[in-house]
Amino acid sequence: MSVCDENFMREALVEAKKAFALQEVPVGAVLVHEGKIVARGHNLVEKRCDASCHAEVLCLRAGAKILGNWRLVESTLYCTLEPCAMCAGAMALFRVKRLVYGAPDLRHGANGSVFNVLNTSHPIHQVEVTSGVCEGMAKGLMQEFFRQRRRDGSAV
Ligand SMILES: [Zn+2]
Repeated sequence: MSVCDENFMREALVEAKKAFALQEVPVGAVLVHEGKIVARGHNLVEKRCDASCHAEVLCLRAGAKILGNWRLVESTLYCTLEPCAMCAGAMALFRVKRLVYGAPDLRHGANGSVFNVLNTSHPIHQVEVTSGVCEGMAKGLMQEFFRQRRRDGSAV
């Protein structure tokens, strides 16, 4: 973990707050290439009525488009929450070099919380993982979101 990781994670948290404001589960991501943010994303599952519109996948797609290359071998993805199995699989397919995430996801996390995707050795591409960066802020945002949802009587 470095100051740099924390700074980029704060940007991912900005994205998570955008999701929160849209009444989406507050998860945000940024893709960093050569020390710069090239793409950003936040959950849009409700808005697009599409369970695959996770922050990470949207961010990877946008980044590949901007860089003109789907092989993101020199890129780091910052995400506020431990990615799910779909997003973890997408990271391997997009050849992301490194993943940095904040809080564990006890419902869907694929770095050991529920599934073992990122933490299983892969013959072709291994994503380096750093966890726990700005964990408290990412977790706080999720807790606040679900507290509100329960209070409002919405499905969680
Ligand atoms: Zn996901």
